[in-house]
Amino acid sequence: MTKALAAGGEVDSWCTKCKMMLNHRIIAMEGGVPARVECSTCNSHHNFRARAPGEKAPAKERVAKTASAGTKAPRGAAARGKAAAEERAFATAREQQQAWEKAIAGRSVHEFRTYKVSEIFEERELVKHNKFGDGVVVRVIDPKKVEVLFKDGPLTLAQAMQLPG
Ligand SMILES: [Zn+2]
Repeated sequence: MTKALAAGGEVDSWCTKCKMMLNHRIIAMEGGVPARVECSTCNSHHNFRARAPGEKAPAKERVAKTASAGTKAPRGAAARGKAAAEERAFATAREQQQAWEKAIAGRSVHEFRTYKVSEIFEERELVKHNKFGDGVVVRVIDPKKVEVLFKDGPLTLAQAMQLPG
């Protein structure tokens, strides 16, 4: 699951349309960092933004998660942290897939609700996403965001959003 950032890969970015931090697909890289991204929620294309406008220095966690070649963290500690994070990610990826299979197995197609940003979802609800397929809501992060576990892992998606037009 954990791989270097590259075009086609995934990254958390501020969505200029959804106006929140969401999962994005990298369209173009520039100097080892994402330059253009596609929002997994609204499919809009925009420049990569590592954090919300007005947000100050990124939290430690986020640095570790999105660290690229140019990281300023002390080398030894960063390497150790990265290896541990990769091990954790590997274990979680397997666990997540098992959890996903358990949640999806034997469910009728009628039990899945088509994902739309305007809908409001509840924990454990089954959703069908036009891009990511079948998923299960694992967490309602806040009234505007849900975490949905798909076959390839969890994604943060928007909900209860009124899009103009
Ligand atoms: Zn968006």
